[in-house]
Amino acid sequence: MHDLAKGVARFQQDVFPARKELFAHLATHHTPHTLFIGCSDARVVPELITGCEPGELFVIRTAGNLVPAHTPGADGVAASVEYAVTALGVRDIVVCGHSACGAMTALAHGHDLSDAPAVADWLRLAEASVARTTTTADVPALVRQNVLDQLANLATHPAVARALAERQVTLRGWVFDIATGRVEELRTVDSTAPVAA
Ligand SMILES: [Zn+2]
Repeated sequence: MHDLAKGVARFQQDVFPARKELFAHLATHHTPHTLFIGCSDARVVPELITGCEPGELFVIRTAGNLVPAHTPGADGVAASVEYAVTALGVRDIVVCGHSACGAMTALAHGHDLSDAPAVADWLRLAEASVARTTTTADVPALVRQNVLDQLANLATHPAVARALAERQVTLRGWVFDIATGRVEELRTVDSTAPVAA
């Protein structure tokens, strides 16, 4: 097993002392400017690819960077979206897809997920994106379509809809390419004009 304890010790000895003032400020302030919704994939590190410091990004990571459309009832993603927009007042919401996404690959190639029923159920939320991707087994196309569809799903959340109507927030759809480090912005949405996918 990777020695996480050594990493923690290194953080306390080297990293934390150099950022002591920042963490002293953060101890009593939580004012992120951006809600970053990315994939759980270990290769997509929000702070690293955006050059952000601790305290700047409020982060939600899900398999396939999916944001279910708003429905009544308990929903961890919805609660975090609402908190970021309503309580923290983030001004930007990024949905970031990425190259070689395992979730999108499974969908694009129709992998058998019978041994992973929770994954299968979750990825069913992206079936409309699969249906809208005209070329079958085209993972990059599905990654892009999925990001656009998640922007539309985001706009169904009442807190986001309200913030868009008041022009308090901008939604951004990104794709991160792991091999080159490039981030492509696919779309920005800054009002309640229809979010066409
Ligand atoms: Zn992924």
